[in-house]
Amino acid sequence: MPEYCKLYINGWTDSTSGETFKSLNPATEEVIVILQKGNAEDVNKAVDVAEKTFDSWSETPAPKRGSDVQEAIDIFEYMAGEGRRLFGHTTPSELKNKFCMTVRRPIGVVGIITPWNFPIAIPAWKLAPALVCGNTVIWKPSSDTPLCAVELVKILEKAGVPKGVVSLITGPAEPAGTEIVKHKKILGISFTGSRDTGLWITQNAGIKKIGLELGGKNGVIVMPDADMKLALDGIIWGAFGTTGQRCTAASRVILHEEVKKQLEDALRKRATALRLGSGLDANTDVGPLINKAAVEKSERYTKIGQEEGAKLLCGGERLKGKGFFFEPTIFTDVSMDMRIAKEEIFGPVLSLISVSSLDEAIEAMNSVEYGLSSSIYTNDIKAAFKAIEKIQAGITYVNSSTTGAETHLPFGGVKQTGNGTREAGILGIDEFSEVKTVYIDYSGKLQRAQIDTE
Ligand code: NAD
Repeated sequence: MPEYCKLYINGWTDSTSGETFKSLNPATEEVIVILQKGNAEDVNKAVDVAEKTFDSWSETPAPKRGSDVQEAIDIFEYMAGEGRRLFGHTTPSELKNKFCMTVRRPIGVVGIITPWNFPIAIPAWKLAPALVCGNTVIWKPSSDTPLCAVELVKILEKAGVPKGVVSLITGPAEPAGTEIVKHKKILGISFTGSRDTGLWITQNAGIKKIGLELGGKNGVIVMPDADMKLALDGIIWGAFGTTGQRCTAASRVILHEEVKKQLEDALRKRATALRLGSGLDANTDVGPLINKAAVEKSERYTKIGQEEGAKLLCGGERLKGKGFFFEPTIFTDVSMDMRIAKEEIFGPVLSLISVSSLDEAIEAMNSVEYGLSSSIYTNDIKAAFKAIEKIQAGITYVNSSTTGAETHLPFGGVKQTGNGTREAGILGIDEFSEVKTVYIDYSGKLQRAQIDTE
């Protein structure tokens, strides 16, 4: 029997409509859980609760708010420490007997909307700083991985986060997600997901503080002087490690023509040897895609690649039988004007693009509209620093693949990957706090800035 889960609004509760939806195991297509389909009325209830709880939560000293969430994973631990910092700054006044400083204040009720991939880590990256900063939260997870959200809320509950501080609304984008985006009393939105949804949010949220972490088309440059074994391991892991389903997955390899043949052969050999299977099986190298639509997307782009004139090195087929499996797929002779080289596929489809110099490689890297992660394999320090300087991306790895973010460093992208916010690290609290400027005049007389000089 599949598990049956409720919404969490001031405690566990059924949805107003009583409607439900199912979540499937992508490896077997079996139903694993039945969930409540939240609607606008549920969002309204959650906002009322979050507003009522805001005063008591935001007045709880920040170090205490930190310890309430400390039982969850890395980012909770890291952000719990932020509760002891939440630094403002002080600066001299231009007038005598006057003191100036900034303090951080919570935003109020914030909406968190998360994608299906990294269904624990990404929400944690948002929930931890949101809570430590003193906000109350309405969270809508993806309908493809809602059970992880239910489990995470249970952990928060167990860790002592008071009722009303976090509400969980499961359900599809319409109406639960759209209602959160448009709700006038929700003053901040933190979103991770696709570029198109991010664009819709910016056009429909109204005036709110918005954080967007969107798609990517991440590239790995391989120079002729690189350690080829290292590059090979990194490319295979970056491209197929999570079946290509991470925002930082490597989906392009920009290789120097001198190593083209060598890398093509080695990559084909390694990719075809990968074992597909359930993520719960320890022998599996490549798990399933998340759903049928994702398999169809990889299949569609394989066809597009062939029609565009790229050469299929390996893969390109879905597996027969149950589960949403697609073979690790590599195209070579890809040029930067092809759709497979520019658009996010979010599946195990890798494009090899050959270039003749570092400048050309950097130009190819920057020719896409996204700018999340990037990598260069080289033993030439000058080439490495040039890449760091010139690549348009939020993250550049040297001699390591495009994946592997650490929670104490900022994470985010440039160009169409986001709107400039950063998650994790010390910058992670910016998205969830407002800065208030405070002037304290202890002169006992009227002092006019810019006018009085004595
Ligand atoms: P998605 O945009 O389809 O959905 C993300 C969330 O938004 C889901 O909860 C969905 O229900 C909700 N949603 C969709 N339309 C909405 C709307 N109009 N209003 C409100 N909510 C709405 O993305 P996805 O398929 O779940 O995730 C994959 C995408 O996420 C990829 O593009 C990937 O690159 C990106 N991603 C980015 C990062 C990053 O940090 N940059 C991390 C992980 C995933």
